[in-house]
Amino acid sequence: MSSRVPVSLRDAFNIQKSNPRNQALLFNIGVLRNIVFIYFVLRWSSKAARQLRGYGILGSILIFYEYLRSAAYGLILKAPGVKGKVKAQLDEATAKLEEKMIVRDPSLIRHLALPKNGLSSEKIREELLKLADLKHTNWETGQVSGAVYHGGKELLDLQTDCMRMFSVSNPLHPDVFPGVRKMEAEVVSMVLSMFNAPPGGAGVTTSGGTESILMACLSARNKAYVEKGVTEPEIIIPKTAHAAFDKAGYYFKMKVHHVELDPVTYKVDLKRVARLINYNTVLIVGSAPNFPHGIIDDIQGLSRLALRKKIPLHVDACLGSFIVPFLEKAGFKTEPFDFKLKGVTSISCDTHKYGFAPKGNSTLVYRNSQLRAYQYYVNTHWTGGIYASPNLSGSRPGALIAGCYASMISMGETGYISSAHAIVTCAQRLAAGIRETMSPDLYVIGEPLVSVVAFSSDVIDVYDVADELSKLGWHLNALQDPPAVHMACTTLTVKSVDTLLKDLGEVMVLVKARGKGAAKGDTAALYGVAGSVPNRSVIGSLATAFIDTLFKA
Ligand SMILES: *Cc1c(COP(=O)(O)O)cnc(C)c1O
Repeated sequence: MSSRVPVSLRDAFNIQKSNPRNQALLFNIGVLRNIVFIYFVLRWSSKAARQLRGYGILGSILIFYEYLRSAAYGLILKAPGVKGKVKAQLDEATAKLEEKMIVRDPSLIRHLALPKNGLSSEKIREELLKLADLKHTNWETGQVSGAVYHGGKELLDLQTDCMRMFSVSNPLHPDVFPGVRKMEAEVVSMVLSMFNAPPGGAGVTTSGGTESILMACLSARNKAYVEKGVTEPEIIIPKTAHAAFDKAGYYFKMKVHHVELDPVTYKVDLKRVARLINYNTVLIVGSAPNFPHGIIDDIQGLSRLALRKKIPLHVDACLGSFIVPFLEKAGFKTEPFDFKLKGVTSISCDTHKYGFAPKGNSTLVYRNSQLRAYQYYVNTHWTGGIYASPNLSGSRPGALIAGCYASMISMGETGYISSAHAIVTCAQRLAAGIRETMSPDLYVIGEPLVSVVAFSSDVIDVYDVADELSKLGWHLNALQDPPAVHMACTTLTVKSVDTLLKDLGEVMVLVKARGKGAAKGDTAALYGVAGSVPNRSVIGSLATAFIDTLFKA
């Protein structure tokens, strides 16, 4: 590209022409300034072009409008008079939060510093029993969405016994704990085989779905940097993808593009994904299924796109885990989502969800070991010795791997097929019940094939439904954009689905009679505010206060 010298620079050539040395210097500076100028113009215009291509003219205008609205609202929130009111309300909400979350039972000992002398084992057991028995939302009755996925006593006892055997172990020292190394490698191998990995497939275990996703994103970022020199990495995710992808963007400095859904299927819109792909794209993502709606994205379509554009594709099967691979064998409809699709380069699968392993277990599997190596951390210069670790943690609890391994070989393929059968049957019963008896007041979002059923309403405030259900002991998840509620079915909810449908029916009568806008419950209040303000900084402050509360002793 050629460019004419800007006027301001041209003037610079005219002064002090007499001195040839000055002239050369000025010329050099001028050229340099031009190059820098052109570089920034090019950079800015190519960014603008990518933005326009990715989101379209209307989409870009809309994004800009939302940005302005949010900024303006942010200014209002800081205005004198408003600021004080906001703070007062925030303090009040925070106080309420603390009152709800912090148990102040005088019969419980508080240790705000180390006890001078250690307590007796007997006393400690007594104290912890009290803590385990504190009043809480009952998961045992199958009224909680997700959270506890199996909960059977026999499996729990087995896990606890096996974890006990390895309670001192740490996979960071494979020479000290060779048994843990063997179990971990086999957990990964079993998951690779479940997802039809080709020969050469490789993986790791992690502490949970979030870490698996963080590592998948890190691997993709490092790969693009090493192989293509990409320094401004971007990832493209469905807007229904798990928040852990945004967390990865936040931690690893990657731009995250959130793609709209097809309005009928609620799967990610492939055309929009395609438009957003550019030189900086390091990863595209699909879920099998996603957390909010339990919908499996069009992984086949994403795979074709990924192959054509030569970009890695991560499939988030954290939730689908040990159900989605067994859908067909359990007698249900399924869709292709695993390594059989050539474009899929990595899959995250939570052993601690439908794998029924103790919490703190997940896996991340790759098409080949080179992709896996991109997530490793190796330090050959450390004064503490040559250091290498596969993922975020250093020391890790080998006991959890033992608990995971025991769960997997205790369930076996038939065990997982029958749990998949029971759980998916439960979810389909829930979806059918809503469609048949609560339409048109409630509608099911998309066609869920796995364990999560999300529903919404055009008639009533769906958060009000969640609040009323919680009075009856239910704990469902609130979703936003669109406002909705979901139930993630588990082994425990299998026996309670009929009661849920019955209670839902009764709650609907109540909520309908009350009418929209009359809702007063916590969920309705929080999401009512969140959905109505253009700037969520206040909600963000409340969320921060929530985390602070977790650590109030
Ligand atoms: C639960 C979940 C995750 C993250 O799992 P954590 O174990 O909570 O970190 C990721 N993706 C989906 C779809 C999930 O449902």
